[in-house]
Amino acid sequence: MQYTINNLKVLIDELIKNYLVYSPKRVNKTTTLYGSIASFSEYDSEVLLTNTTAKGLIYSQSERLFDIKKRADAVGLIEEDMVKKTIIFGCRPCDARGFSLLDTLFDWDNYRDEYYFRKRDNTAVISISCGQPETTCFCTSFKDGGPDSTVGSDLLLTLIKDIYLVDVVTDKGKKIVEDYQSYFYQTTEDIAEKNENRMPEKINMGVIKQRLDDSFESPYWDTVHLPCLKCGVCTFVCPTCYCFDITEKEFDYTCGERNRTWDTCMSEIFTRMAGGANPRLDPKRRFRQRMMHKFKYHVDNFNEELCTGCGRCIKYCPAGVDVRKVLEEVK
Ligand code: SF4
Ligand code: SF4
Repeated sequence: MQYTINNLKVLIDELIKNYLVYSPKRVNKTTTLYGSIASFSEYDSEVLLTNTTAKGLIYSQSERLFDIKKRADAVGLIEEDMVKKTIIFGCRPCDARGFSLLDTLFDWDNYRDEYYFRKRDNTAVISISCGQPETTCFCTSFKDGGPDSTVGSDLLLTLIKDIYLVDVVTDKGKKIVEDYQSYFYQTTEDIAEKNENRMPEKINMGVIKQRLDDSFESPYWDTVHLPCLKCGVCTFVCPTCYCFDITEKEFDYTCGERNRTWDTCMSEIFTRMAGGANPRLDPKRRFRQRMMHKFKYHVDNFNEELCTGCGRCIKYCPAGVDVRKVLEEVK
């Protein structure tokens, strides 16, 4: 069944009454970030890509996992209550597909990360298809990617003239349509329109993987990393980077907390071990690791790249490093 929404504003304002709703929100002239909105008017519909991704709304940049309290006879761990029912609205398909990649990583090999899933399970993602891409976008280079990709979304909205066409992707999406049925109109007309034609040329990921398989010792890595500052911006703006650090704070002898905070493989101390040895002290190795992890090791393990082609790492790199160029030149 195909649906349309004629008045998105009224629907979102209605959802805000029952859900914590996040959407792209303009912070200043050049910055739009995800933030909670109290009305549809706070949603920035103009921007294609927010400066940072929607990832942090579920996999927080820094979060307290639990409090630690010493009691007379034991040590207690106190976890946060369940999170509120949440909607991420206005997500782009590349960010939504990032959640799908993270879902696999956080539920893998007999380990399920409950801290991630208690938010993920309570969150519905309402994405919006992209019209005109940015020059840094390359989502169509991936088998499940594209400006109309539904992967990772619960509902996908596509603006056609002045109405939104609705793709109902999951049961969570179906429930929203059922609960708010007076805002959705059934249609039998085929008004779908694909945006793919406007996307830049695709990169052949299969060929790149074959080249990466044989290029670990390539002299190419000796020089290609030189402009890179190893600042880590590329990893922090990425919807799929997931490395973290665990720290514990002790407040006094009776209580403390354990926190999880994003970390980055571009940092020198990321791989430093307790005895001081560091297998990736050389910046070349860190640069190579980022490329190899996303486009070789992850493909070996999961049969897909750890990248959605959002292009943020290209757009925000202060040194002008372009991952597409690195991959096309590697041999
Ligand atoms: S590639 Fe760019 S953004 Fe990433 S660490 Fe190097 S300088 Fe920073
Ligand atoms: S590696 Fe770059 S282009 Fe790929 S998902 Fe991460 S930020 Fe986006």
